[in-house]
Amino acid sequence: MSHHEQLVAIGSDSKEQEEHRLRERMARIRRRLVVLSGKGGVGKSTAAANLAVALSSRGHRVGLLDVDIHGPSIPTILGCQGSSLISDGQSILPVEVRHRLTLMSIDFLIGNKTDAVIWRGPMKFKVIQQFLCDVAWGDLDYLVVDCPPGTGDEPLSVAQLIGRPAAAVVVTTPQELAVADVRRCITFCQKADLPIAGVLENMSGYVCPQCGIHTDLFGSGGGERLSQEMSVPFLGRIPIDPRIVGCGDAGSCLMEAHPESPAAQSYLMLAGRLHEREDLWSEGQAAPLTSREAPR
Ligand code: ADP
Repeated sequence: MSHHEQLVAIGSDSKEQEEHRLRERMARIRRRLVVLSGKGGVGKSTAAANLAVALSSRGHRVGLLDVDIHGPSIPTILGCQGSSLISDGQSILPVEVRHRLTLMSIDFLIGNKTDAVIWRGPMKFKVIQQFLCDVAWGDLDYLVVDCPPGTGDEPLSVAQLIGRPAAAVVVTTPQELAVADVRRCITFCQKADLPIAGVLENMSGYVCPQCGIHTDLFGSGGGERLSQEMSVPFLGRIPIDPRIVGCGDAGSCLMEAHPESPAAQSYLMLAGRLHEREDLWSEGQAAPLTSREAPR
């Protein structure tokens, strides 16, 4: 049986049973962070992976869920592509990728990596639901979810199923073009009732390691301007670091390979700042767990 068939077989209960399982699983997760971006290539997956590692290095138990169905890149960034999934017949165990950090990725279910994944909205909803309720996440301080770019079925399914407290981190680059996409992303969160932790500006300037001069390669301040304009918090800037690309290819993230670098320090600060945001994590957040229909 393929991993996908295994997952489907595990999740063949009635709707009520599924909802019950989902509630039980989500009740053991204290906080959820949904990482979104208006478009691809802005560094969303890199941010999700580094943020998860930063949170776990601060002593939190972290689960990382990669639902980027069309381009799951977290396993590459964390060096665990093609990991085998283990099931106990009741649930699937997430892959332990680091100390205090487990991962579940759509990548682990796709046999042939060159196949394009063509799934309709309801199938995406179903698979995301199964990732949430059939994976043995255990007790977590954080579940970090890496969504595909845009505002399609996957982020909507995540927002509907993930429970509360949850908050979205919207990743952008500084130039105006990316900022326009992020505007849509923020509106999406508002419509989907997903609280917004804030906007993170990635690839925000380059500091020359030789001379220390800062250059704004992609313009500057777009993320901050947008935050002000849309009245959402600005979470900070991650500078360009060419080593991020090499790290991703080598299966280790910058947080681990170059913890002293300004970008790694920025991820660490981001993790700290998010953790301290009491407005996001108070018990008062509504919990619209499931019972909604899958998108058609
Ligand atoms: P997305 O998930 O938004 O599609 P990725 O996280 O896959 O984007 O990043 C796209 C590319 O940009 C990758 O090659 C990644 O290594 C690189 N990258 C991301 N953030 C930075 C950064 N701050 N500095 C340099 N390269 C980066």
